Amino acid sequence: MQEELASKLGIKKEVLEIYNECEQELGEKFKEIEEIAMYNTAKVMQAFWNNKLSETHFRATTGYGYDDIGREVIEKIYAEIFGAEDAFVRIQFVNGTHALSTALFGNLLPGDTMLSITGEPYDTLAESIGIVENKMSLINLGVKYEQVDLVDNSFNFEEIREKMESQNIKLVFIGRSRGYSTRKSLSIAEIKQAIDFVKGIDKDTLVMVDNCYGEFVEKLEPTNIGADIIAGSLIKNIGGSLCETGGYIVGKKECVEHAAERLTAPGIGKECGATLGKNKEILQGLFMAPSVVAAAVKTACITAAMLEKLGYEVSPSAWEDRTDIIQSVTFNDKEKLVKFIQGVQSASPIDSFVRPEPWVMPGYTDEVVMAAGTFVSGASIELSADAPIRPPYMAYMQGGITYESASVAVCIAISNMLGK
Ligand SMILES: *Cc1c(COP(=O)(O)O)cnc(C)c1O
Repeated sequence: MQEELASKLGIKKEVLEIYNECEQELGEKFKEIEEIAMYNTAKVMQAFWNNKLSETHFRATTGYGYDDIGREVIEKIYAEIFGAEDAFVRIQFVNGTHALSTALFGNLLPGDTMLSITGEPYDTLAESIGIVENKMSLINLGVKYEQVDLVDNSFNFEEIREKMESQNIKLVFIGRSRGYSTRKSLSIAEIKQAIDFVKGIDKDTLVMVDNCYGEFVEKLEPTNIGADIIAGSLIKNIGGSLCETGGYIVGKKECVEHAAERLTAPGIGKECGATLGKNKEILQGLFMAPSVVAAAVKTACITAAMLEKLGYEVSPSAWEDRTDIIQSVTFNDKEKLVKFIQGVQSASPIDSFVRPEPWVMPGYTDEVVMAAGTFVSGASIELSADAPIRPPYMAYMQGGITYESASVAVCIAISNMLGK
């Protein structure tokens, strides 16, 4: 970044120097990220070619949405990209939690046992499962829930074996991304090891992966390495920042069909669902996604590198291989944390004039402060950051539609944090 431009934007000279230095140091790392984006872009392009995508697929359907050829081609393209038998991609999913919950409710029946092998699943699934009491939960339906925690960020294979041998496990659940926990995210290679292990004990046990935040960060997806069913949100990675709502489930034909019959109704499954003119957005978003995800990953890396240089603890480090777009930073100081988050908001394309303050939010025990100046409400593929106000004052940051806009925002956030 040029000095004159940086000063016009309110970026401190010392921050600019660190930025330019880090960008240089990250040259090789950025090349690796771009190479992954190239690979995934090729995968998307080939799926478009193989399925003869055309303008007619953008046509809107209404009402029942019968014979929506655009919707059908989207699902074929998703299945191909994910190396899966079938896909269910719908704007009728209200978020990622809904897609994940639908996949669980579709594939677990009363009497079945679900085993999470990455500790407690993402917060929002707690009530779906019944870890937090809810009348409508899987547990209240008669599904049993078992859990094996990670040990030092790795699978506890011994305990997984013990659980699988002592009871009949229908579905094993894996969370790829750390979400907003302190554990590490799990790479595709690590997940493969776990899937192979589970299938080695019982090949009929279903493996489901929460793929949120993971899509296109690596070359392979969990379905490429043996997962039976995965789910995620269209307002994260795979929507390429263009999708305004929706979720997806991909995997084995039977698993996807069961989930579809839960979202719609038994006997209807994938056959209905008007697309209301959203097909183009889903397809163009998918087309953009590998590149947008690369921008988000580069943003995470430069943020980590800069803050590491300034003496903060970051996870993952700038040079670690990544499997999701989340970056955490430990500030150990309430004021610095809040100033950083406010800086991100002030450099957002939307609502730059709003100053977020720590606030009590429903469902959270501590006050929370968040920056989310996004085109699509709550879309975390766009640059966003949030933090609970409690020691060690850790912020989670993710997204960035373009590396340029997001790195400007990070430089402004760090300048704001350094103050004076
Ligand atoms: C975002 C996310 C979800 C789903 O959250 P929604 O906000 O409902 O889309 C689930 N798991 C992980 C790891 C996530 O990051």
